[in-house]
Amino acid sequence: MYVYLNGKIVPSKEALVSVFDHGFLYGDGIYETMRVYDGVIFKLDEHIKRLYRSASLIGLTIPQGVDSLKISLYETLIANNLRNAYVRLTVSRGRGELGLDPELCSDPTVVIIAHKFKKYPKELYQNGIKVIISQTRRNLKEAISPKIKSLNFLNNILAKIEAKRAGAYEAIMLNVNNELTEGTISNVFFYKDGVLCTPSIECGILDGITRETIIEIARRKNLKIKEGRFKRKDIYSSEEVFITNTTLEVMPISSIDKYRYKIGSITKSLHHLYRQEVNAYVAAIKAEGPSIWGRNI
Ligand code: PMP
Repeated sequence: MYVYLNGKIVPSKEALVSVFDHGFLYGDGIYETMRVYDGVIFKLDEHIKRLYRSASLIGLTIPQGVDSLKISLYETLIANNLRNAYVRLTVSRGRGELGLDPELCSDPTVVIIAHKFKKYPKELYQNGIKVIISQTRRNLKEAISPKIKSLNFLNNILAKIEAKRAGAYEAIMLNVNNELTEGTISNVFFYKDGVLCTPSIECGILDGITRETIIEIARRKNLKIKEGRFKRKDIYSSEEVFITNTTLEVMPISSIDKYRYKIGSITKSLHHLYRQEVNAYVAAIKAEGPSIWGRNI
C-alpha cells in the first residue's frame, strides 16, 4: 500500500508523521473522506470546496492548489491500483514546537490514504441499523462549528462510545436547545406525514455532501422536504428514518432508543435514486474525456 505524504507517494511503512505534528498534539487540522466509484471520485469538487472552507475557518493555508490536490488524489489511487475505494485527505497544521500558536508550524502536513472500498454487510441495508439519541450533545456551533471537518473528533467519539455501550451502530446528538442535529459520522433524515425532514444547518451540523444530494433528488422528485428545527419527539413518531454519508450512502434505521421503524419505500427509493445519481456522475466525468491529471481512468 502506498500513501501520499507531503508531495511524495511512499510505501505505507515510510509514511510517518512527526510526534511534534500539531494534528497529533492538538487535533489541529482538517480532512475529507471521499468515495471512488469505478475510478471516479464522486463529487470531488464539492469535497475540495469543503476542505478549503474548513481550512479557511481554522486559518490554515493549504500549500497546494486545487488542481494539484486533485492530481495527488488520483495519483494515490493509481499507485494503489484502486478503482472502488475510500480516500481520505488530511491536512494538519504541521510540525512545530509545543504550544497552540499556529505560527509555530511553518509547513502543513498533507496526507492521502486510499483503501479498497469494503462493502457494508447487505443485511444492514435490508434490516436497518439500531441507533440511540446520545446524552452527549453536539458541540455548540459558536464553540467549534460542526461545519469545520476537523481532526478534533472527541465530541463525536464520546457519542459513539455511548452508542457502542448500548449495542447501537450510530448515535444521534441533540444540541443544547434539545434540537436534533446529526449522527457521529452522518446526517439524519426522517419521513413523516408525507414530508421528508432533516435538521437544518442552523442547528449546528456538518452540511454533508450526501445530505445535499438527497435533498436535490427529493426536490427533483417533488417530494415535500423540510429543513428545520426538530425535537426528539418528531423523530420518535416518524414513519421512516435513515442516515446518510459518503461511504454508507443511505442507511435505513430500524430503531431509535425504544422506537421501531420499518424499512419503507421512501428510504429504499431514495437510495436507489442516489445510486442512479452516482452512475450518472461517473458516466458524465468519463464522457469528458482526458482528465486534468492527463490519464484515462
Ligand atoms: N456529519 C458528520 C459529523 C460527519 O463526520 C459526516 C461524514 N463526513 C457527515 C455528517 C456526512 O457528510 P458527507 O455526506 O459529506 O460524507
